[in-house]
Amino acid sequence: MVDQEKIRQAVRLLLEGIGEDVNREGLLETPDRVARMYAELYGGMEEDAALHLGKRFPVQDNGMVVEKDITFYSTCEHHMLPFYGKVHIAYIPNGEVAGLSKLARTVEVYARRLQLQERFTAQIADALMENLHPQGVLVMAEAEHMCMTMRGIKKPGSQTVTLTKRGVFLEDQALTDTFFRMIG
Ligand code: ZN
Repeated sequence: MVDQEKIRQAVRLLLEGIGEDVNREGLLETPDRVARMYAELYGGMEEDAALHLGKRFPVQDNGMVVEKDITFYSTCEHHMLPFYGKVHIAYIPNGEVAGLSKLARTVEVYARRLQLQERFTAQIADALMENLHPQGVLVMAEAEHMCMTMRGIKKPGSQTVTLTKRGVFLEDQALTDTFFRMIG
């Protein structure tokens, strides 16, 4: 549970730490605004992807399902700065599919918390494996990390790409090739 009072206190300390006057007019509401924003940005901690993936539909055809270009915004746990971009999900059903909007909801659950991009794609893949019981899953994320672009080595536009495979995608490279053609 996000403790908004703790966040308000911490933001006041941060402002003092960078040499600001916490009582100047522009900053008076800032601790409260940040606390409410954090409740939203980190709200995924309290959510369970199983809730979104619980409703499934039977299918006859187990052809590959691809949902591409799912926009996400997350926060890196090393710098607490945003990283954001797109997630592409592919899975081979095993007689059941989830509603397409539920894949995007699952991405949201894992984006709205402090993250590592590698863990992010793995968590989405595992949630799909556990709840949809598909033959296989592939999750790919392409993201720009603000900790790479606005500080440190400052390489705007550089993309970090992570890819997680489960099930038949680990054994059959042709499936991954098909995925890349479908998102390409
Ligand atoms: Zn970072």
